[in-house]
Amino acid sequence: MPDNRRFILVRRPDGMPVADDFRLETVATPALAPGEVLVRNVYASLDPAIRGWLDDAPSYMPPVPLGAPVRATTVGTVAASANPAFAEGDWVLGLNAIEDYSVAVPGGFTQKIDAGAVPSVTNYLSVFGAVGLTAYFGLLEVGKPQPGETVLVSGAAGAVGSLVGQIARLKGCRVIGIAGGPAKCARLVERYGFDAAIDYRDKDEAALIAAIGAAAPEGLDVIFENVGGIILDAALMNLRDGARVALCGLISEYNAPAPVGVRNLWQLIVHSASINGLLVRDFIPRFAEGAAVMAGWLAAGQLVFDEDIDAGIENAFAAFMKLFSGGNDGKMILQI
Ligand code: NAP
Repeated sequence: MPDNRRFILVRRPDGMPVADDFRLETVATPALAPGEVLVRNVYASLDPAIRGWLDDAPSYMPPVPLGAPVRATTVGTVAASANPAFAEGDWVLGLNAIEDYSVAVPGGFTQKIDAGAVPSVTNYLSVFGAVGLTAYFGLLEVGKPQPGETVLVSGAAGAVGSLVGQIARLKGCRVIGIAGGPAKCARLVERYGFDAAIDYRDKDEAALIAAIGAAAPEGLDVIFENVGGIILDAALMNLRDGARVALCGLISEYNAPAPVGVRNLWQLIVHSASINGLLVRDFIPRFAEGAAVMAGWLAAGQLVFDEDIDAGIENAFAAFMKLFSGGNDGKMILQI
C-alpha cells in the first residue's frame, strides 16, 4: 500500500491560525477491515467551518483531535475496497480529511458521485456541494425573498455569497453585495449581476451604515449574513419592517480573540424583524431537489460560479488561510 501524507493539527490555534499549528506527516496506509473503503482524496474542500472544528468548543461536530488530520469534505476515487457496494475507481464524496488516503467506514457520509454528470468533479464541492446548497436553501427557506424585495449579502464575492446574490436576482429581487476591495466589488456587478456593491475595507461602521442606506434607500427586506461584526451591525441599522436575517456565517469572528458581537439587535424589535441561524445539513434530505434547480439555471446560463483551486497538500495551510485574508476568488479547493 502507498504512503499517506496527512495535514495534521498539532496545536489548537489561538486566534488567527499559524503554520506551526499544523504539520505534514507521512504514515503507512492502513489495512482495511471488512466493509471499509480506502479513498484516494483528489480534491479537498477548504471551508471557513474548518476553523471552528479546530477549537475545542461545543459545535455541531466534535473538534478535530490533536494529532489527527484536519477534517474536510473531499472528492476522490476508491483505491481499495472491502465493501461490495464500492468498486475500485468509483468516484466518491465524503467527510474525510486533508490527506492522500482516508478510510471510509460503512454508514458514514461516503457516497458515490457521477463524475461524468458535471463539467468538473470539483463541482461537487462548489455549486453542487454544501456551498451551493447553503446558498439555495439558506436564501429561499430562511431569507424567504419575495419579488421586488431588497436583499443584502455580505461576503458577497465568496463561494456562498456569489450564488446567493444570483439566486436572489433570479427570484426578482434587488441585490446589494458587500465585499473586500474594488476588484471583488467590480466582479459582483459585472460577473454576478448584483445591482450594487459596497467595499467594506475602507469603511468604519458609520460609513457602512451610510453606504448601505444609499444603496437601499427604502431599507433591507433580507440580510444574508456571512461575516458578522460591524458589517452585520451596519446592516441592522437599515432594516425594513418585517425583514428577515438569515445568519449563515460570522467569518469576521472566527479568528477574533474577543468577538465583537452584535450590538444593534434592538433594530429587530423596531422593525418586527427576525433572525434565524441556518445549517446546511438540516437540508440534506432536500439536496437533490436544490441541486436539480441549480443545474437547470446553470444549463440555461442564468448562474455562474467560480472555483479557486490550489495544488499540493504542502500548500494546505496557505490555501486555507486565503479564506481569512480574502485571497480566494471563488470556492477554495485544494488539489491534494
Ligand atoms: P468564501 O466566502 O468563499 O471565503 C471567505 C471570504 O470571507 C473571504 O474571501 C473574504 O472575502 C471574507 N472574509 C474573511 N475574513 C473576513 C473578515 N474579517 N471580514 C469580512 N470578510 C471576511 O467562503 P464560503 O465557503 O463561501 O463561506 C462564506 C460564509 O458562509 C462563512 O461565514 C461560512 O462559515 C458560511 N457557511 C455557512 C454554512 C452553514 O451551513 N451555515 C455553510 C457553508 C458556509 P472578502 O475579500 O470580501 O473580505
